[in-house]
Amino acid sequence: MKNIILNSAVEKEIQKVSKTAKLIWEKGWAERNGGNISINLTNMAGNISTDYSKHQYINVSHYPKDLSKKVFFVTGTGERIRDLKKPEEASCIIQFDTEVNGYHILWGGVGKKNIRPTSELISHAKIQLDLEKSPRKYTTVLHSHPTEMICLSHHPTLSKNEEAFNNTIWSMLPEVRIFVPRGVTLLPYALPGSETLANMTVEGLRNRDVAVWLKHGALAAGKDIMEAFDFLDVANKGCNIYMKCLASGFTPTGMTKSEMEELVKAFKIN
Ligand SMILES: [Zn+2]
Repeated sequence: MKNIILNSAVEKEIQKVSKTAKLIWEKGWAERNGGNISINLTNMAGNISTDYSKHQYINVSHYPKDLSKKVFFVTGTGERIRDLKKPEEASCIIQFDTEVNGYHILWGGVGKKNIRPTSELISHAKIQLDLEKSPRKYTTVLHSHPTEMICLSHHPTLSKNEEAFNNTIWSMLPEVRIFVPRGVTLLPYALPGSETLANMTVEGLRNRDVAVWLKHGALAAGKDIMEAFDFLDVANKGCNIYMKCLASGFTPTGMTKSEMEELVKAFKIN
């Protein structure tokens, strides 16, 4: 399969993915092929001049028409996050055609017969379109399986109360309050890869930094993969501390409401 030549800005983003993938694997968040990543490269990639007939074309149906000509980096379906050490093998760059009847695979899948984007492509595509409308300039979406966040998403009461969930993890450590300022949204369990899950996530991420997919995992967006990873990592730290305290046989006190309000003021969190 022919590969397009990447410009240096795109290459840099992909290198960051490779570096972050190592951290995700080391944290134990990426068993087998768990997790996936996308980057909206439409602006960064510029005008792509290539012979499209030399690239594989995959048909899609019912994808939003706003995806016309959009270019995305996406991890491959069935590929392991740990194999992103060699991103040209475990991921691909796709471009939707004008009518959004399908997309071409422009890059990636080296040594693979048929690399295909993640099965969560619809979620990524819908979220990316929504992020384009936001002033935050987020281009990167990361879905992963942060262990403690998943654990807490099974909690019989906290999993049913978003406010209590956020106050619990925020109160465990000042950094959680500061670096996950908008908190997490708790989304009910839905079939992985489904449009229901995609639509809930789009909606949920408009007001929150992290979408927790109950009994499954979490998703965050950022200006690059590092920023998206940091949202998950810091939120997960709050879950981790809470659970460690419970495992040690006591319920943590947590920062008080006024201590957290003081933080919000001091760090101008909004
Ligand atoms: Zn998953």
